[in-house]
Amino acid sequence: MAHHDLWHDDRIKEECGVVGISVPGEEVARLAFFGLFALQHRGQESAGIAVSDGSRVRMHKDMGLVSKVFTQEILDTMPGSKAVGHTRYSTTGASVQRNAGPIFCTSVVGEIAVAHNGNLINSFELRRELEEQGEIFETSADSEVIARLLVRNLHLGVSEGVRATMEVLKGAYSVTVLTPTLLIGFRDPYGIRPLFLGRLGEGWMIASETCAFEPVAAHLEREIIPGEMVIIEKTQMRAEQAVPTISTSMCLFEFIYFARPDSVMYGTSLYKARERMGAQLAIEHPVDADLVVPVPDSGIPAAIGYSKESGIPFEEAMMKSRYIHRTFIQPDQRMRELGVRMKLSPLRENIEGKRLILVDDSIVRGTTTNQIVKMMFDNGAKEVHVRITAPPIKFPCFYGIDMASKGELIAAIQTEEEICKHLGATSLGYLSVEGAMNAVADGERRFCNACFTGKYPIPVPQALSKMAFEDPHIGEIATVSVGQMKLPVD
Ligand code: SF4
Repeated sequence: MAHHDLWHDDRIKEECGVVGISVPGEEVARLAFFGLFALQHRGQESAGIAVSDGSRVRMHKDMGLVSKVFTQEILDTMPGSKAVGHTRYSTTGASVQRNAGPIFCTSVVGEIAVAHNGNLINSFELRRELEEQGEIFETSADSEVIARLLVRNLHLGVSEGVRATMEVLKGAYSVTVLTPTLLIGFRDPYGIRPLFLGRLGEGWMIASETCAFEPVAAHLEREIIPGEMVIIEKTQMRAEQAVPTISTSMCLFEFIYFARPDSVMYGTSLYKARERMGAQLAIEHPVDADLVVPVPDSGIPAAIGYSKESGIPFEEAMMKSRYIHRTFIQPDQRMRELGVRMKLSPLRENIEGKRLILVDDSIVRGTTTNQIVKMMFDNGAKEVHVRITAPPIKFPCFYGIDMASKGELIAAIQTEEEICKHLGATSLGYLSVEGAMNAVADGERRFCNACFTGKYPIPVPQALSKMAFEDPHIGEIATVSVGQMKLPVD
């Protein structure tokens, strides 16, 4: 079973965030830490940083939040002017610790560390082939498949080695690699997961999101093009189109929910894109009401957009505990049952006697939304109109997002009317796929929107998609297996 912790229950989980930094003459472990800290939302289960001092690569990684894994003392033992970092979400299980990133290997160019965000759809095959050739895998992470392929190919030279590796990888991958002397970044030819290049003084930085540049005073240079590799040596950066771009199909969910609102993607602020999604939602699903209220924090920009478009005032109807993620104490079963009360508390003054438009970013299983709607009615709301800035999620993701199996995705098995009833809401409206895409960029850009439409930009092996679609139980196993290279567990 996929693990869903209390604080992120019924939320879709991003799998990873990656950074890479190279600044000649500077100690960069601390910069990598703050870059990674800004990407904490992309993975809360493990964190790791590898640093090179020009001859040796040193690494520290562990389970837990970035701020828990690293201390001042640990960072002080990691000298070097180049680093990569990785923050990861994964399922629970014995293998988790081993699977924490970055992945460390020894190659012809010395020690290397590989950090990967995404998911390969041919990792089973690649792993089997490599094992037949004598490789012994230490983890079940896709990153190790990429690392071992790189190790094998680096004798061709760095750029040819990366190219040869990219030629056999299928799926979504945004990768940073550290060698004793180089920082490398590369991205799959569909550009499913984001990857950006920034300048940091005389040096360079690579990150999953632009929000990682801000705290270390790096600035955005540009997006790394799908199929491109960048090789950074000291102050020099060399970019090459390693494999042709097939399409630019960035994950639509990055724009709706995963990425931080202060990040920029496809040239637009995600905060503004989400505000436009909210405005579009008001056009597609108008309703007469007294207040527009967000589910904090992620629903806030869209609720502001809905309010501006509809002229209905914006207010907050609940507060989110700002510190819940900072507790390392796991809730017990009884607290688990309290559900959203642990993280959201109602503001009765803004609820009682009011007709509310409740704006949220997505519905997965519906359990959280159901509890929030109930909380509104328990506090005296007259009506609760749920408005969602994502289209209904009907299909599993094979490109690095852990979502429920098809059997658990409420929109895959129930009509909108049934879902509305299940939520206990007065009415329900989802943003259209076109509405979401146009809110990002006026019809110019392409996206992966497969979990809404079932149209997968990178063909998914039939056996896997068949399993995931037809049998909800096997679907979960398949999704978990594909996503995280995990064996079925009971
Ligand atoms: S299937 Fe959905 S979540 Fe997965 S990459 Fe595509 S848009 Fe993103």
